[in-house]
Amino acid sequence: MSVEVSFIVDTMLGSIARWLRMLGYDTLYYNDLDDWRIINIAARNNRVVITRDRGLYAKCVKSNLKCLLLEEESIENRLAKISRKYGIRLYIDLEKSRCPVCNGELAKVSKESVVGKVPQRVYERNNDFWICRSCGKVYWIGRHWRRIEDTLKRAREISSYSKRSSGGGVVEEASSSK
Ligand SMILES: [Zn+2]
Repeated sequence: MSVEVSFIVDTMLGSIARWLRMLGYDTLYYNDLDDWRIINIAARNNRVVITRDRGLYAKCVKSNLKCLLLEEESIENRLAKISRKYGIRLYIDLEKSRCPVCNGELAKVSKESVVGKVPQRVYERNNDFWICRSCGKVYWIGRHWRRIEDTLKRAREISSYSKRSSGGGVVEEASSSK
């Protein structure tokens, strides 16, 4: 069984950490880690470092770590770039999704088991619920689902467009050569 790619995300990219977790990738994110802690954790667990800090990027390259410099502004451009470089899937498989808040694994639970844990209207309108095994937060496919799907659709389009145009597309490929 092949092990999926895992990540550690620099402090300025919290939103991308939440997306990667939703997509099912083990992603560490802390909002107060200095560069050397990030490098140590990445080296120990063979994690890809994602940063928009050129200084940290240079240190990672020097340390022979897998690292991606993410200077794109929009979520869809960022996701497309990560997908092109590390082959992440750009659709949500709820069997694999992790808790966007804490990176814990989700477990499908019965509707009955979330009585009182979600608003009454949510309970009435939904039949499928997941709970984070680590922090206990309950998830369901809510109204924001359409926006998530739209963002991922745009990311898939950008990703396949840049694959087709062999010139590297709109973003410069980060090189790990010295
Ligand atoms: Zn959680």
